[in-house]
Amino acid sequence: MKHNFGAGPCILPKEVFERAAEAVLNFNGLSILEVSHRHKDFVAVMDEAIDLVKKTLNVPSGYSVCYLQGGATLGFTVVALNMMREKKRAGYINTGTWSSGAIKEAKKVGMEVDVFASSEDKKFTYIPKKYAIPDNLDYIHFTSNNTIYGTQFKSFPKTKLPLVSDMSSDIFSKEINVGEFDIIYAGAQKNLGPAGATLYIVKDSVLGKSSSTFMPTYLDLKQQIEKESMLNTPPVFSVYVAMLNLQNLIETGGVGAMQKKNEAKAKLLYDEIDRNELFQGCVEKEDRSDMNVTFLLKDDSRSQEFDVLWKNAGIVGLPGHRSVGGYRASMYNALPIESVKVLVDVMKEFERTY
Ligand SMILES: *Cc1c(COP(=O)(O)O)cnc(C)c1O
Repeated sequence: MKHNFGAGPCILPKEVFERAAEAVLNFNGLSILEVSHRHKDFVAVMDEAIDLVKKTLNVPSGYSVCYLQGGATLGFTVVALNMMREKKRAGYINTGTWSSGAIKEAKKVGMEVDVFASSEDKKFTYIPKKYAIPDNLDYIHFTSNNTIYGTQFKSFPKTKLPLVSDMSSDIFSKEINVGEFDIIYAGAQKNLGPAGATLYIVKDSVLGKSSSTFMPTYLDLKQQIEKESMLNTPPVFSVYVAMLNLQNLIETGGVGAMQKKNEAKAKLLYDEIDRNELFQGCVEKEDRSDMNVTFLLKDDSRSQEFDVLWKNAGIVGLPGHRSVGGYRASMYNALPIESVKVLVDVMKEFERTY
């Protein structure tokens, strides 16, 4: 039995893997991999995958949901192009690698970017809280959970300006008020499904208002939503598995119940990091992510011994991102608390043998 703490593509519930495997062999007589995306059987899957997002997140009326490809990385461009207005000026909060990527791509399509808040001064180990939001901006963008550094917004920026968030690594992990946002986007592979699909939740009133002269059809959310995510061949399998996972989320109590489980998992591990003298967390306590827990060994020379212990316990995916090192325990929805207990036990065993 493996305990998958990988940062993504992520663990999904076993039942979802089983049902996905069944559909590869038999989806109404065909394989889900060969079915036409225009066939009513798949159109029904797409409709349900969209509907379940609205249901699980209580998406208010006046919002649409669509699935594109290209990951959150293409999302950086999509949101800039679609939210560009006359000012061609946007405000970004820089909290790490993914925010920086979003800023870079916005600039590439001709946006002037005002980074009015950043945690770069302390190597992205906190979430900026004291800042003034300029008002001459087309929109505000932030990354709700910083997958690599292990920080997470516990409350969202308050602004009258349109608000856009990359929620790739914490969407569906906790309750959110979608009504605060104009666009939420997320690569599926962190908490929703397999890689290949990218989720967009979009306020209808922002559609078709871009001032950009460059707007490839595929990147135009208005056209994507009008075509119900079927403008071209959608990532059929990825959407199918996302649908299964959302069904499973509802069957197991929905986002509210999931939030409680995720908070319990995070508390268990952070408590051990704080108690155990051999370890230390990497970021400000109040900004710690419930999804991606980053920590270090105080004495790095013992890392080989620690690595042997957790590997022998069946743990995989624990090394930190190649750009920061240390350790990162990603604890997405499907990771059971039992796996976190195994990791905590390994940390205790390491303490005893030290
Ligand atoms: C993983 C991740 C990305 C990149 O996602 P892709 O789907 O691989 O493009 C962007 N933002 C955040 C917050 C992420 O965790």
